[in-house]
Amino acid sequence: MGNNMRGAFVEIEGPGEKLHTFQERLQQESPVLARIDTITNQVIPVRNESDFQIKQSEGGGSRQAEITIDATVCRDCLKELFDPHDRRYRYPFINCTNCGPRYSIVQTVPYDRINTTMKVFAMCADCRREYDDPVNRRFHAQPNACPVCGPRLWFTDREGNEVPGDPIVRCGLELQVGKIIAIKGLGGFHLACRADRDEVVSRLRRLKDREAKPFALMVGSLEQAEQVAIISKASADMLTSYSRPIVLVPKRADVSLSRYVAEGTGYYGIMLPYTPFHALLFAEGLGPLVMTSGNPSDEPLCTENTEALQQLSALADGFVLHNRDIERGIDDSVMMENCTTPPDHPHPCSPLPIRRARGYVPDSIRITPPTARPILAVGGEMKSVVCILDGDQAVLSEHLGELNNPKAYRNFVSAIDRFQRLLRVEPAWVAYDLHPDYAATRYALSLDLPTIPVQHHHAHLVSCMADNGLTGPVVGITIDGTGYGTDGMIWGGEVLVGDELDFRRAGHLCYFPLPGGDRAARETWRPALALLRETYGSEWRDWTEKLPMPVPEGAVDLLEKNLEKGRTIRTSSLGRLFDAVAFLLGLCGCNRYEAEAAMVLEARATESSAQGKLHFDLREDETGILQIDWRCFIADLLDAIRSGEPSETLAAAFHEAVADAFVDCAARAARKAGLTRIVLSGGCFANRLLLQKISKQLHDADFEVYSHRQVPPGDGGLALGQAVSAARRVKEKE
Ligand code: ZN
Ligand code: ZN
Ligand code: FE
Repeated sequence: MGNNMRGAFVEIEGPGEKLHTFQERLQQESPVLARIDTITNQVIPVRNESDFQIKQSEGGGSRQAEITIDATVCRDCLKELFDPHDRRYRYPFINCTNCGPRYSIVQTVPYDRINTTMKVFAMCADCRREYDDPVNRRFHAQPNACPVCGPRLWFTDREGNEVPGDPIVRCGLELQVGKIIAIKGLGGFHLACRADRDEVVSRLRRLKDREAKPFALMVGSLEQAEQVAIISKASADMLTSYSRPIVLVPKRADVSLSRYVAEGTGYYGIMLPYTPFHALLFAEGLGPLVMTSGNPSDEPLCTENTEALQQLSALADGFVLHNRDIERGIDDSVMMENCTTPPDHPHPCSPLPIRRARGYVPDSIRITPPTARPILAVGGEMKSVVCILDGDQAVLSEHLGELNNPKAYRNFVSAIDRFQRLLRVEPAWVAYDLHPDYAATRYALSLDLPTIPVQHHHAHLVSCMADNGLTGPVVGITIDGTGYGTDGMIWGGEVLVGDELDFRRAGHLCYFPLPGGDRAARETWRPALALLRETYGSEWRDWTEKLPMPVPEGAVDLLEKNLEKGRTIRTSSLGRLFDAVAFLLGLCGCNRYEAEAAMVLEARATESSAQGKLHFDLREDETGILQIDWRCFIADLLDAIRSGEPSETLAAAFHEAVADAFVDCAARAARKAGLTRIVLSGGCFANRLLLQKISKQLHDADFEVYSHRQVPPGDGGLALGQAVSAARRVKEKE
């Protein structure tokens, strides 16, 4: 057997029955990190050979076969890790061909130790023997190491002075007494502290300047996870998979964790230990820990020891450091359960990615038909991810953060460069978002390459198609906070009919003014007041007298003046409608982090099951586009609020009304176009309640419904749609 440009090949001979069994077992028993996409058979003359040989790679090997994901420590390694007689007993860098770091340590291709950050460690004789032995579990395991020859771990105080003694025991003790420890891990630094004490968690919030955005938790075992959250079978599968993502799971009532961990939302983000260090740490008997990325807010992950000591010394009481360099910072991935698909679907209960990074990148996504020209797609502004599409493989980068942060932007530029070299692809075209002010757009236009713009929601639609292997026309419900429209307005509540090549707008939320520019996405009273004014006209001021939450002095006057001048931008954003409703229900006056209002609203809605109280009007305008009109909805909502309806009932009724409106709109568009396939994309589909309601109703109406499985529905999945759409348009042009 060996590798060639197309993948791995195996030559075997024997009776047909046995060959058949071999192929079956190959698929069932392949190593965890192997992914078999397809097997093709070819009959060749019998050679009467009986030995096992691994052939030298032919032609450099397929680049897809070379670099794999960073995988969680495997069961065999864990056994050795806790075996006092093993030479790697308690060695935090234990790994084998089935586990350990890959993508985070590789510097260039081919994937050999010399091209990783492990090159500075010369293997000892014992490690070398394992590495050279084809039947050993560590045969060609590039990061192979042991306490004699490999990296080491140590504990320091906040000044960086090494503290003698076992660093893992020390770290455990410090955490127990409520200290905040910066821990260098696989893809960067974490800040860790115990999750059950208010004063500890709120101190971390204060120091990190992170007011409210939920913290992720790491727990020692599935049992520990079940004590704080409701873990379904699908969530348990994700939690224990070799990718070990953070999984968003419903909180249990009256848990003993600090309320500051994830206030206002209905979910905890939980992950299980994924490095040998984590396993050793939790063996010290720790309860749930807050594990948040170790970086100043919005900046890329800290990955270097000296950098971390500088940037985090004000945040951490101590450091766990090591000397295995991290080549590229890579965040923890975030997943949630997606049980929307019918049971007869090939992926009945698949993950829904929220953030795709460690454990998933650089796994590729298969695209049909393949592209003749390699394409770089630069994604959007927030939750930046880039994509390289070459042949039938689309490879997405790790989550690169929010590009309005200068450090994140610099990281984005260098990430693209390194990504191209790693994949050995020279793009022939670059695809980008229509928004003229996106940093990624400006970057794309500065390259010396032919460019293809892709409208934001069209990219979402194509992304969901590609995610599900669809080609040809579909209807798309693409709903999010913001995306630049072809008419220069801010879109975000869209029903499109389209394919990879092109689209048309079949329906959308009626436009409303969005006063205050960027601030309108933060201050929820802005869209709320704008909607009141549009709904009540000249009488709108009566309705601003008893607002449920305070607005700044003079805001109503100022807003009225601005709206009268008619100079505010108009939007069809569903995200802003969520903000407005959260404000009117008195639930959220300000998004302290992205989508806080929507999360609070979703959490509140799950406490109730009101139905059919509120609705949107759907009407066709002169140009044949369906308008989802919110005026009657806002008026009914305000009446209900005044008559004292509880906010959870109204939050539930709002979700119901939004689902009804978009289902109705999409169904009408689909029937008119003679289509049966409907794709669901855009950041609003991270709202589980909305996703479930919309997909169930469409499924019940006999539509084929597709949601995301491999890439996020939000802007983290945008680049995939851009790349696939651009590939189709390049084909058309050439
Ligand atoms: Zn292993
Ligand atoms: Zn060794
Ligand atoms: Fe979007």
